[in-house]
Amino acid sequence: MILVAGGAGYIGSHTCVELIKHGYEILVLDNFSNSSAKVFDRLKKITDQDIPYVDVDICDEAGLESVFSTYDIQAVIHFAGLKAVGESMLNPLVYFENNIAGTSTLLKVMKRHTVKHMIFSSSATVYGEINPSPYQESMQTGMPTNTYGYTKLVVEQMLQKLDQAEEGWSIALLRYFNPIGAHPSGLIGEHPKGIPNNLLPYVTQVAVGLREKLSIFGGDYDTADGTAVRDYLHVVDLAVAHVLALKNRLDHTGCDIWNVGTGNGYSVLDIKNTFEQVNQLQVPFEIVARREGDLASFYADSSKIQNELGWEVQYQLDDMLAHSWNWQKNNPNGYESA
Ligand code: NAD
Ligand code: UDP
Repeated sequence: MILVAGGAGYIGSHTCVELIKHGYEILVLDNFSNSSAKVFDRLKKITDQDIPYVDVDICDEAGLESVFSTYDIQAVIHFAGLKAVGESMLNPLVYFENNIAGTSTLLKVMKRHTVKHMIFSSSATVYGEINPSPYQESMQTGMPTNTYGYTKLVVEQMLQKLDQAEEGWSIALLRYFNPIGAHPSGLIGEHPKGIPNNLLPYVTQVAVGLREKLSIFGGDYDTADGTAVRDYLHVVDLAVAHVLALKNRLDHTGCDIWNVGTGNGYSVLDIKNTFEQVNQLQVPFEIVARREGDLASFYADSSKIQNELGWEVQYQLDDMLAHSWNWQKNNPNGYESA
């Protein structure tokens, strides 16, 4: 059985669908700090399965011990983390405890039960400010511009050191670029609590009338249209990358890194304009000051994951933006509108 820690969240829930599609038996572990157990009703509609889950925090060693003693766990896909950049700058200790200490506790319990396969949700933020795009896995990591990103770098290094020190670990560090979109069914998607930090939920919340207008952070970057460029990928393609990484890790030992991005860069204005065009609606906006810590432009070199894991992008930008809107318009208040 595969333990999906943080499996009730945005990327985790989409990964549950792909794992089931590929015949894996799964157990979700989540403390629901940024998700709702209502997602399991939706997942049942998509997969026709009742996905078992436990309400446990990765910082709770006794709780984890009970899960690993009860279930026959073979590998862990580890999504359980806090991800709000602004909050991480205001409350670093909360991020150290949840993301770093929580992962350490999870690893301790895994080791006790001889579970040594882990797929970890890392981020392109670990490339820092120094590396030129396209980012390649062989580049030295830099210093992330915020505390959230710092916790990703620390956990990557913890996992690398653990692998160097002990036999038998099998770890994938997946460095995500910018996941957007939603399951094509419109039944699961992203609905952040509070004001969205990320671009797409903000755009869709403006489109559905929950927010007045989009603020575009910075119009004076050294990019084609002056707005910042990112590598957006469909969340279902990202979910598939986890299945491929898991398959690979179940057959190998060691710690390996894969970028998960398409290699295409789009600006904030590209996203807004394409969203309007694909969905036939208007998104009021204004260009405001740059957001502190943002980089002008970054995107992936995705050749390693394509060559080594056979990962292929199934969805293009139009699909991502149509599926984001399909989810938002059918679920204006996320799972609460169920
Ligand atoms: P999310 O908040 O939707 O999902 C994370 C899930 O983990 C939530 O269900 C939350 O309740 C759970 N969780 C958090 N702390 C926990 C704890 N201590 N114990 C148990 N469960 C806990 O976020 P997401 O967008 O699905 O991201 C998943 C992972 O991918 C995170 O680690 C995130 O940092 C990482 N990541 C996300 C992005 C992105 O753009 N969404 C980019 C790079 C990396
Ligand atoms: N962005 C924006 N307005 C928003 C949210 C984001 O202009 O309300 C911009 C942000 O400055 C960045 C891009 O959109 O250039 C992607 O931001 P996001 O937070 O989604 O991802 P990340 O910063 O992690 O790449």
